[in-house]
Amino acid sequence: MRVDRIVFATGNADKMREIRMIMADLGVEIQSMREAGVSVDIVEDGTSFEENAVIKASAIARALEKDGVQAVVLADDSGLEVDYLNKEPGIYSARYMGEDTPYTVKNASLIRRLEGVPDEKRTARFVCVIAAVFPDGNNVTTRGTIEGRIGYEERGQNGFGYDPIFYLPAYGLYSAELAPEEKNRISHRGKALEEMKKVLRQKML
Ligand code: IMP
Repeated sequence: MRVDRIVFATGNADKMREIRMIMADLGVEIQSMREAGVSVDIVEDGTSFEENAVIKASAIARALEKDGVQAVVLADDSGLEVDYLNKEPGIYSARYMGEDTPYTVKNASLIRRLEGVPDEKRTARFVCVIAAVFPDGNNVTTRGTIEGRIGYEERGQNGFGYDPIFYLPAYGLYSAELAPEEKNRISHRGKALEEMKKVLRQKML
């Protein structure tokens, strides 16, 4: 299938940098929404990471189609699942306690809700789903996860969001204590993007 470019449906510069690094060897131009000249208000009203990622990518694909652009549109949706809290905050991770509430407050809340809960029941994971919508309207999703535990305090200065309370037993470190390259290598987003790269390589041959 012939495509002019890949457009990634995000306004986040860190995500753009990561996707460009991972997808560089595909040999196709990768643009942000802004570079592609689209800006669309998207209501994420899906009930799973997969649905929300497809909703985002489809909305951008429709806008590009109107301009006659033959692009593959990618979008991601991610979040933190805490097993003891029935996988909360899940798809509501960004909106948990309000979009503008500082993460120090959100993190303190999760630690409080797990007060007295022993290590083996503090299991959690970051999930990332990448959706690709192709010019023929078909879509594919890939999913990456990283398993860990909710810690007892905030630790580390790197990363963002829930990284300071996400403890990685395999490393003996909190996610916010990992160097950025190291986190990208093992993260849910890195894994889902690598899987998507395999799909794109096949589809775009
Ligand atoms: P979105 O996928 O950009 O809508 O973001 C989902 C939310 O999940 C973020 O705002 C964070 O709260 C959380 N999240 C997703 N990935 C990570 C991560 O790698 N570290 C910390 N928090 C994350």
